[in-house]
Amino acid sequence: MANFFTDNKELKFHITHPLMKRIVELRERNFTEKEKYDYAPLDFEDAIDSYENIMSVFGEICADTLAVNAESVDIEGPSLIDNRIHYAKGTVENIEALKKAGLMGFTLPRKYGGLNMPITLYAMTAELISRGDASFSNIYGLQDIAETINEFASQEIKDIYLPRFVNGETGAMVLTEPDAGSDLQRVQLTATYSEKDKIWYLNGVKRFITNGDAEVSLVLARTEEGTSDGRGLSMLLYVRDNTRTIRRIEEKLGIHGSPTAEMVFKNSPAILIGDRKLGLIKYVMALMNAARLGIGGQSVGLCEAACREAEKYASERMQFGKAIIEFPAMYEMLSNMKAKTMASRALFYETARLVDVYKIYHHIEQERQLFKEEKEEAKTYQRLADVFTPLLKAVSSEYSNQIAYDAIQIHGGTGFMKDFPVERIYRDARITSIYEGTTQLQVVAAIRGVETGAYLKRIEEYSARAISHSLNYLKSILLDMTNEYSKMVELVREKKDNEYTSFHARRLVEMAGNIIMGYLVLDMANQDVEYKELTEVFIKLGKAENKQKAEYILNSDIKDLGIFKNITQKAN
Ligand SMILES: Cc1cc2nc3c(=O)[nH]c(=O)nc-3n(C[C@H](O)[C@H](O)[C@H](O)COP(=O)(O)OP(=O)(O)OC[C@H]3O[C@@H](n4cnc5c(N)ncnc54)[C@H](O)[C@@H]3O)c2cc1C
Repeated sequence: MANFFTDNKELKFHITHPLMKRIVELRERNFTEKEKYDYAPLDFEDAIDSYENIMSVFGEICADTLAVNAESVDIEGPSLIDNRIHYAKGTVENIEALKKAGLMGFTLPRKYGGLNMPITLYAMTAELISRGDASFSNIYGLQDIAETINEFASQEIKDIYLPRFVNGETGAMVLTEPDAGSDLQRVQLTATYSEKDKIWYLNGVKRFITNGDAEVSLVLARTEEGTSDGRGLSMLLYVRDNTRTIRRIEEKLGIHGSPTAEMVFKNSPAILIGDRKLGLIKYVMALMNAARLGIGGQSVGLCEAACREAEKYASERMQFGKAIIEFPAMYEMLSNMKAKTMASRALFYETARLVDVYKIYHHIEQERQLFKEEKEEAKTYQRLADVFTPLLKAVSSEYSNQIAYDAIQIHGGTGFMKDFPVERIYRDARITSIYEGTTQLQVVAAIRGVETGAYLKRIEEYSARAISHSLNYLKSILLDMTNEYSKMVELVREKKDNEYTSFHARRLVEMAGNIIMGYLVLDMANQDVEYKELTEVFIKLGKAENKQKAEYILNSDIKDLGIFKNITQKAN
């Protein structure tokens, strides 16, 4: 039996990361739940043991069911019949397998029937699923809807809806409209309150909605008449009924198993979640950040799948009398792919841990007042998570595209055919840098981490950690890269021009990302010599990439922007 959890040593490394102790203690409220539930962990070791068992069951289902079904799901896709979306046969089997194994309601508290798993472990499910079938990650991953309900809804709503997710019902995140994509402030779908019925009614159109026919949806709607910006938007819970029509499901390049719907709401009843006017500013931001973490996992899972397919093929394919993996062009490409996969995975789990800590505090705060030090800790982690999440989403999704591209290259002409999974992986990877906010929008958020010095501060914390003498040569490269990065940040800042900062934003964010990931993999090499070679490959690659970006910044000036504008705006 194959197992996507046990066949990857790095996953265990991340589960046993030192910060997990804090996460588990907080999540388990110092292990007080063992008195109420005989399956709750007794202590930290027991919790880790149980996580590994659960992930092992998960890993087996991903390898033996999801990955096996992936090709037929890709071919069949979902269908729309009588206003209902039907999943492909393999998708239905995948859901059943996870339901049967009791793996729904993954992060939900035990009182609702959930598994009370940390977000870091839930994040890991996105990686494991996507290694088997990235499209399915969008369906299972919509448990984010349940998480958001648990975070912001009233107790009454939680009591009704959360057990439904545990029983396998799915969710949808209903935000995008034809004129409101990256700019969600422009959402026009209205929600009007009826004093008579004591309920809200939704009217309008939404498009590109993943799993649009879900049982429970969270809908971003305009509740404040006469407003036109984000402050007039609220979040509402809608339960599937016949007032909402699915106009069509989209024909897509990839993730065929995941239905993407356009829908019309006509006097559809809905319930307000949390406070009015905080829909976009607070609740959607929280929901999207969770979903962005999920796309990080989807991207890493795709990277892992692409690397494994490429390595297998390169070892077996013979040309010029030898296996192609023996050619420098091939082994270099493959090593870079593996190094980038390890680095983006490290960034992924680091981000998940940061999110985990502050989210748990959010829940504890609903039970009791936080102590001063706890408040401080929660704030620190939230600030870090806010700048790490867009960085992760941008970097990992772009990597999954690059790595899937290279995996096809390693397959040569065969990679262009539908004979091997790599063709599907390539198509599936393409969406990761678009939905849940494009890479450009992630950069708009991540540049704050550059401007406020948040990335630099974190880099300095990493660099203060003790490191084995034998790794000092790699650390000194990272120190040089940090100096170079600080100089470039200063150079751009000196111009005091927002448009110029936006122009170089992606370069600066990626430079910070290379250093951060460099330290994270250095930490892995420090603990296990087996990671040393890939760490060296990654850090040297990061150094070369950062040099190129620094060179570009050094040779640019504000007046260059005029050239780009002339080139692109001549036709207008
Ligand atoms: C398969 C799929 C599934 C989806 N699932 C969901 C879902 O479940 N729920 C949901 O609500 N939505 C969903 N979406 C919508 C998705 O989140 C949006 O497509 C995405 O956010 C981009 O919006 P847009 O398509 O309108 O592109 P636009 O916003 O029109 O962007 C077009 C281009 O302009 C760039 N751009 C825009 N603004 C800026 C800026 N300020 N700075 C720099 N560049 C900018 C973008 O980066 C992009 O390159 C899905 C989309 C797809 C394709």
